[in-house]
Amino acid sequence: MALTDLSADELRDFAATQRAAYDDLVGKGLKLDLTRGKPSAAQLDLSEELLSLPHGHLAADGTDVRNYGGLTGLAELRGIFAELLGVGTDQIVAGGNASLTMMSDTLLYHLFHGGVDSENPWGVEESVKFICPVPGYDRHFSLLEHYGIEMLTVPMTPDGPDVAAVQALVADDPSIKGMWIVPTYANPSGAVCTLEVASALAAMDTAAPDFKIFWDNAYAFHHLTDEEAKSADILSLAEVSGHPHRPIVFASTSKITFAGAGVAFLAGSTETIAWYTGHLAKSSIGPDKVNHLRHAQFFGDADGVRTHMRAHRAIIAPKFEEVQRVLRESLGEHEVATWNTPAGGYFVSLDVLDGTASRVVELAKAAGVALTPAGASFPYGDDPRDRNIRLAPTMPPLDEVTQAMQAVATCVLVAAAEKLGA
Ligand code: PMP
Repeated sequence: MALTDLSADELRDFAATQRAAYDDLVGKGLKLDLTRGKPSAAQLDLSEELLSLPHGHLAADGTDVRNYGGLTGLAELRGIFAELLGVGTDQIVAGGNASLTMMSDTLLYHLFHGGVDSENPWGVEESVKFICPVPGYDRHFSLLEHYGIEMLTVPMTPDGPDVAAVQALVADDPSIKGMWIVPTYANPSGAVCTLEVASALAAMDTAAPDFKIFWDNAYAFHHLTDEEAKSADILSLAEVSGHPHRPIVFASTSKITFAGAGVAFLAGSTETIAWYTGHLAKSSIGPDKVNHLRHAQFFGDADGVRTHMRAHRAIIAPKFEEVQRVLRESLGEHEVATWNTPAGGYFVSLDVLDGTASRVVELAKAAGVALTPAGASFPYGDDPRDRNIRLAPTMPPLDEVTQAMQAVATCVLVAAAEKLGA
């Protein structure tokens, strides 16, 4: 029964039962963690062979990968990810181990020098603003905050960012220089940006002539079901709309091979690639091509990546199903929370009663269950409704996911009963 339909006496009884369940939890001395979206050891084991690669040190074109050079990255690895991301091989760079670093560098180059189509460096403008669909990825927001870029939020819908809200903002304000999008299996909402939304964003009129879409496709291949979402081809959409330099695409193998020793990619128009490597050349003589070669040998081709991702799915899909089962069975009838059922990616986004997310996280912490801080999925850590909690179930073993989720459900119910006055 919905908690709001209970009489005052019933609600008091309900609260007492949940509080007792909570006290039991605290007594158990749990030590569980649903905070960061990290691959589990079993997932990392899928790529163990990388540790005995590469065989030899020569790339297909004869490049000695041990030496300096090759700023755009090893051709055979770029070829594999160009095919997967649907871009030309001359439109992609393979870099170091972190796409976040490429995003950071790209922001700094814009601030110091301006982009391919900028009149001035962004940094000389009085203010620079970015649009942030929320809930979104906390590190995107902390990067912008760190570089003094103001953040304007728009709602993330199940089809991607709310296009009308974005259009209304960018139409008149030239200080709005860009926006984030995690187009496929968004962090944390799981949304997949539809072709319609992507087309509208690629084509929309912007007051800033050098408006950028930071298209962070971190979860492009991370399917959890047979219905494998295909990312919109943002580079082609932007090109046909007359804004070829608008999107900058990011991706990495962080959640494909090793989170700490994968390969990151940046894609864009050929001019964007020349612009990016032109700036990069000042800080690097070339990337870790040994890592590129071992990744290329490990995968073989694009299908090798697809097959590998199915092995990840076999490990993590049961954990996501378990999150759904516990939420449904523990919270469903009480109508105090809603959540998404992602078809891919690394997260479940849980919305609890307004004003109770921080309390849930606090209760969970006291019971030994670490959750991502409430508000983390919003710029400045400020969730105006204090209702969103990001759950990351990939890292703990399945039995710990069950225990942690049961604890979360109890905390949600305790906080809801408190909020309703019990
Ligand atoms: N983008 C998103 C949306 C992510 O969720 C993450 C990892 N949590 C990253 C980027 C980080 O990627 P990388 O390891 O390539 O820096």
